[in-house]
Amino acid sequence: KKQPSPSADDLVEGILKGDTAALGKAITLIESNRDDHHQIANNVLQKCLSQKKESIRIGITGVPGVGKSTFIETLGGLLTEQGNRVAVLAVDPTSSQSKGSIMGDKTRMEALVKNPRAFIRPSPSGELLGGVARKTRESTLLCEAAGYNIVLIETVGVGQSETAVHGMVDFFLLLKLSGAGDELQGIKRGIVEMADAIVINKADGDNIKRAEAAAKEFKKALHLYPPKPNGWTPKTMTCSATENTGIEAVWEMIRTYIEQTRKTGHFKEKRKQQNRNWLFETIGERLKSEFFQSEAVRPVIKKFEAQVMAGTLWPFQAAEQLIGRFKNKS
Ligand code: GDP
Repeated sequence: KKQPSPSADDLVEGILKGDTAALGKAITLIESNRDDHHQIANNVLQKCLSQKKESIRIGITGVPGVGKSTFIETLGGLLTEQGNRVAVLAVDPTSSQSKGSIMGDKTRMEALVKNPRAFIRPSPSGELLGGVARKTRESTLLCEAAGYNIVLIETVGVGQSETAVHGMVDFFLLLKLSGAGDELQGIKRGIVEMADAIVINKADGDNIKRAEAAAKEFKKALHLYPPKPNGWTPKTMTCSATENTGIEAVWEMIRTYIEQTRKTGHFKEKRKQQNRNWLFETIGERLKSEFFQSEAVRPVIKKFEAQVMAGTLWPFQAAEQLIGRFKNKS
């Protein structure tokens, strides 16, 4: 039996009351690839957005095993204790692939899941990062409408996902581990450049000294980058997510950043630029999906693909012909 789709008005009413069931249903509609779901979702978004609410969006990235979920569990606990409502979203472009998601099926954030001031949503699936990113952006807005004033967006440092998340948050935090003197190797320059802070996790037990040394190394390295246009110098710190040390200091640092950039106007400016990028990304993503799903393209794409691979047709020729078909039929 097919479940009837909930009405937009019911969902909006629920979301604005902070009802997590309504919020979850609306996000499911956002994540759906069905056109009718899309329409309801857009309708819900539109109605929710008339409510402007202040929020802080924080991106958290780092390789698998660095302690992202543990960090979020601890930070989330602290933030909710202080009276905040915290939503946790994830961008994991691997989650749709058959190999299974890097962010895992393990039980994550056990305490936060049960916390009535927290809302946790795993990564939407989507074949393309663009789709996943759009869904997460829209879900962020719904969470904010539902009264979550802090949104944590977690991503694995693979592929382009950290760039996508950097493009949708106010503050971007890179979690690292201390290594045996190789702190500066094997890190993607691009990620370090994007980071507003590098936090060395697992600074506990025998590891404290090494973590502090690593933090110093990063601090030196960060000085080699040009200062950010907003005047912020990226910070380096250490913490232990399991022992809950240094986490409060990380939060203080983030608050300082938010305060400073709100004062100078950079906070708003960044969001404006992000909205502009969001516009172009959405256009690109929608056009692409319409193109590949169109009757003019879908039935013949495999044939063109085979010809290109066989060398009987050049890629640019195939593209030209396919786009021609698409334009003629639309
Ligand atoms: P994620 O893959 O980045 O989400 O990492 P997890 O949060 O799942 O953590 C991976 C492993 O590291 C788990 O076994 C955690 O218990 C452990 N871990 C996380 N944070 C810390 C920490 O601060 N100190 C220590 N010693 N272990 C930690």
